[in-house]
Amino acid sequence: MTPKRILLVYCAIWVVFGLVLLGLAVYVNSLFLIPLVVLMVVLGFLSIMVKCPHCGRKIMIRKVGLSGMPLGVRGWPPRRCPDCGKPIL
Ligand SMILES: [Zn+2]
Repeated sequence: MTPKRILLVYCAIWVVFGLVLLGLAVYVNSLFLIPLVVLMVVLGFLSIMVKCPHCGRKIMIRKVGLSGMPLGVRGWPPRRCPDCGKPIL
């Protein structure tokens, strides 16, 4: 699977399970907020770990300046890899 498709799958999982858990938290028991937070942390971590298929570096980390210091996380994958410049499908 391409990185963009993997991120779309994570997004779909987040929307579906997030809405189900939020509904359960509102209508059944507020303890369902705990798995919601766990799901958010796990999917966020998995999204950050998605790597470029060409050079193997993480594409969702935003880099700044000449030093390439990691500063923040992208909301959406870039069209081209920030490290090797090849298009990400
Ligand atoms: Zn790359």
